[in-house]
Amino acid sequence: MKNYDVIVVGAATAGSYFARKLAENGASVLVIDSQPEEKVGTKYDIFHVGRGDFDKFSLPWPEKGKDYAFEFESTNVCSAFGNHPKFSPGPVVGMHMHDYTLRLNRWAKDAGAEIKYEAKFTECIFDEKGKIVGVKYKKGGRNYEVYAKLVADCSGIPAVVRTSLPESYGVETFKIDPTDMFYVVLRYIHFKNPEDKLELLSWPFYKTWEAPQHNPDGAIFGIGANLSYDVCEKVYKEFEAAVKLPEYEVDYFERGFTPYRRPPYSMVSDSFIALGDAACITKPSCGEGVTAAMVQMDVALEVILPLLKSGRPLNRFNLWLFNKKYYEAQGADFANQMAVLVGAVASSAEENEYLFENDLIFSTKNMIAMGEGGIPNFTPAEIAEMAKGFLKGVTSGKLRMSTLTAMLKAVANGAKICSHYKKFPVNPADYKAWCDKADEIWKQCGKMADMVSE
Ligand SMILES: Cc1cc2nc3c(=O)[nH]c(=O)nc-3n(C[C@H](O)[C@H](O)[C@H](O)COP(=O)(O)OP(=O)(O)OC[C@H]3O[C@@H](n4cnc5c(N)ncnc54)[C@H](O)[C@@H]3O)c2cc1C
Repeated sequence: MKNYDVIVVGAATAGSYFARKLAENGASVLVIDSQPEEKVGTKYDIFHVGRGDFDKFSLPWPEKGKDYAFEFESTNVCSAFGNHPKFSPGPVVGMHMHDYTLRLNRWAKDAGAEIKYEAKFTECIFDEKGKIVGVKYKKGGRNYEVYAKLVADCSGIPAVVRTSLPESYGVETFKIDPTDMFYVVLRYIHFKNPEDKLELLSWPFYKTWEAPQHNPDGAIFGIGANLSYDVCEKVYKEFEAAVKLPEYEVDYFERGFTPYRRPPYSMVSDSFIALGDAACITKPSCGEGVTAAMVQMDVALEVILPLLKSGRPLNRFNLWLFNKKYYEAQGADFANQMAVLVGAVASSAEENEYLFENDLIFSTKNMIAMGEGGIPNFTPAEIAEMAKGFLKGVTSGKLRMSTLTAMLKAVANGAKICSHYKKFPVNPADYKAWCDKADEIWKQCGKMADMVSE
């Protein structure tokens, strides 16, 4: 019978990072992934990580000619008709997902973690009291059992461990459905006219962007939407009708989805933790999840490593503090953004134009704060200036009163949900009352998907 400190289910970005950090701190770790090694991290090709995140999370650098694809320094964010660009800084590194995931796999192994590919989690093993003590997995047609003090679900959107648990286990077992996902379509293109060059732009009204790809003469035209790929295509047509793009040909498409919902209120229970996409940890402003999950995992490690070192059990009670620390570190701000963004998408294309033109909502200050996962703090003078701009918009007929009301309501909801998350209970006994209140506030917030018509 093989025993580990931690079994990690899923060997992609979240699973590899968590395994590495545990192993380099002396924990024994087994990672299992249902995919063969040559398929891990192949769900799409190019992904972005902020350059500063390599130092922040001590990540290994990609190599030119291998997993490294490109770097860029900043983008410009444009209005619904392609005007009034706002500078959005943020040096970014583009990498090939499969090759970089393999690099993270090796990085975890170098620290002592064991990785088994083509090893599919099938179910948890429980003791006589109903607590997780290990997992069963299938590999090469045979069934195996392994035991551990903690099972980490890093299996992405299917959340295979979390969704397999009994309802009464202490974590929500919901499946992530289409209204809770952000669908992404990437067009890998080349320009027809060789004089046309890549521009680093995005158009939040359509949730579209133009970004580099590995071919320096090409670009990626990306779009994201709630509900379905069909919605992406419908909005992409509106985008192409409103914003003049250089002539291009599509070389190929990539499609994928990312969670767009609140995480389970508690992400831990007895010998269990949900991480990364399995816990719906993505940035609400863009759906990116790789480094958002690293913030979550660093907080988890602060709680888990001392427990492992002291030999105390990794039960729900001892792991509980992780929830609170996570919401303080990032989760409360993400909840705020998620609520505020419902209001930000309430405007028409013409209203969006007015907001851009007058630095309302879509200002450089906002872009920076949202990109960092938060909400900007405005000075009283800035608030007064914005109030004047909104008033002028309404009186001139450029902004509907209903749009302004929706935006103000969203900001108020954001502040409410953020403050509630910051009061996540220290004592699990107070959890039920906290969840009831959170449910009530989220209901008032509504969902981004409610604003979308198919
Ligand atoms: C088109 C697109 C572009 C994106 N771009 C970016 C970006 O630029 N930057 C960014 O930060 N984020 C981006 N994201 C989001 C990001 O891809 C995800 O947040 C991130 O990959 C999630 O990583 P993860 O390790 O949690 O899950 P996953 O990458 O989904 O990995 C889960 C792993 O679990 C394994 N698994 C599943 N079931 C089982 C089982 N039964 N047994 C064993 N193993 C199992 C899978 O094989 C897989 O390897 C993008 C998403 C999409 C769709």
